[in-house]
Amino acid sequence: MFEYAPSPESVRPQIKEHYGLFIGGEFVDAEDGAVFKSVNPSTEEALFTVAEAGEADVRLAVAAARRAQETVWGPMSGTERGKYLFRIARLLQERAREFAVAESLDNGKPIKETRDFDVPTAAQHFFYHAGWADKLAYAGLGADPRPLGVIGQVIPWNFPLLMLSWKIAPALACGNTVVLKPAETTPLTALMFAELCQEADLPPGVVNILPGAGATGAALVGSPVDKVAFTGSTAVGRAIAKSIAGSKKKLTLELGGKAANIVFDDAPIDQAVEGIVNGIFFNQGHVCCAGSRLLVQESVADDVLERLKARIATLRVGDPLDKNTDIGAINSAEQLSRIQALTETGTGEGAEAWQPACDLPERGFWFRPTVFTGVQQSMRIAKEEIFGPVLSVLTFRTPDEAIAKANNTPYGLSAGVWTEKGSKILWAAERLRAGVVWANTFNQFDAASPFGGLKESGYGREGGRQGLEAYLDV
Ligand code: NDP
Repeated sequence: MFEYAPSPESVRPQIKEHYGLFIGGEFVDAEDGAVFKSVNPSTEEALFTVAEAGEADVRLAVAAARRAQETVWGPMSGTERGKYLFRIARLLQERAREFAVAESLDNGKPIKETRDFDVPTAAQHFFYHAGWADKLAYAGLGADPRPLGVIGQVIPWNFPLLMLSWKIAPALACGNTVVLKPAETTPLTALMFAELCQEADLPPGVVNILPGAGATGAALVGSPVDKVAFTGSTAVGRAIAKSIAGSKKKLTLELGGKAANIVFDDAPIDQAVEGIVNGIFFNQGHVCCAGSRLLVQESVADDVLERLKARIATLRVGDPLDKNTDIGAINSAEQLSRIQALTETGTGEGAEAWQPACDLPERGFWFRPTVFTGVQQSMRIAKEEIFGPVLSVLTFRTPDEAIAKANNTPYGLSAGVWTEKGSKILWAAERLRAGVVWANTFNQFDAASPFGGLKESGYGREGGRQGLEAYLDV
């Protein structure tokens, strides 16, 4: 094995000491003056302070969005709206490196992921939806689909810029205006995106960004918006659905998951091992569709596990800004303690934990990649979303048993199938209760491909032609 010398990213983005709320095209402080800090999870150092939006600020932002929707953005032709979205997409590409470094600093994820995945995919969402803006009448959703109005959007901390683009690009393409609340621990790239909206000359009020915590999200959900789009935990998604039941607000929910990644005995094992690693260790496992339950056919289980452990032992954990880093920091102290607590229940319930020998930095929030064997379906580590770099391995003997175990979960977001037989892929995909099924690959995303869940993983689709429907009155 080669030893890698450190290869730290040399560019540092211009991060301001303080950011305001972005309302009506301007940065303003909160009405009550509240502020909070955003911390770099790999060093625990404060990066900047930011205004925290309260109910009064939510009212102002929704009013600004309403004005912009009724007077400028709604009446504008799709062709003109598309030009703005193309401009945003191009500006994101131009400033890609700056956004990638900023995301790694605020979130803790490795630079190679922000550089090669988060930022390019976010730009792709704007390019893709820019193309739809003047073609909505041909999307198969009726001859004259109308915007819904003002959209309230609440996003999590695992893909801050990407989730922003999944939410804002389709909403704007369809003629809506938005008020978006980024997660408390990762507001930076949303605030930089607000600056980019100014640079693109986007009409004031079309995009409004309100940093804050859960209370800000709840205030936004309770405000007079026409639709709520939420990505986050099933518990909060359920509370939101309850709180707006009976109102005229539309709702889409993209919630948690506990995906099965199924390896049949005829799978190309080395390729499957790469897919297992990508499935659970990409983004520190902070992924709603992570392949967190490995279901491996008993006859190849020993071989798969041996090669998997050898591969995991080569993963480099550490400085997110080092270009060789595979696994960065856990996003927050709270998330780290959640992962630790759930992992302890695994050992407590009798599963066997394995971790590679690797040094962790002294400061910051870190967790070693972990593989649990001897896992039973009844254990918490097999049932609950850990949202960290922790894989639970279960075995099966027959294809029917694999499907039964894969579907034995309240979630239904994604699944993976590894086999050399196309017929087995189709057979499994038909039976798996999941919104997305990947075959001989994992964690593939494209703006043209709809994404979303079944059961407690939520409802509504994001991306593709299907994703437009959630932002149109059809
Ligand atoms: P949450 O669901 O609490 O957070 C998602 C977003 O919702 C954040 O912006 C959050 O604000 C906001 N929010 C929190 N409470 C409310 C509320 N009552 N009304 C409206 N918005 C609200 O997830 P957490 O960050 O707390 O993570 C907890 C667990 O959730 C994780 O361990 C993981 O298992 C799961 N999770 C799943 C995600 C997914 O994509 N499936 C994404 C994130 C988490 P704030 O940032 O202040 O909390």
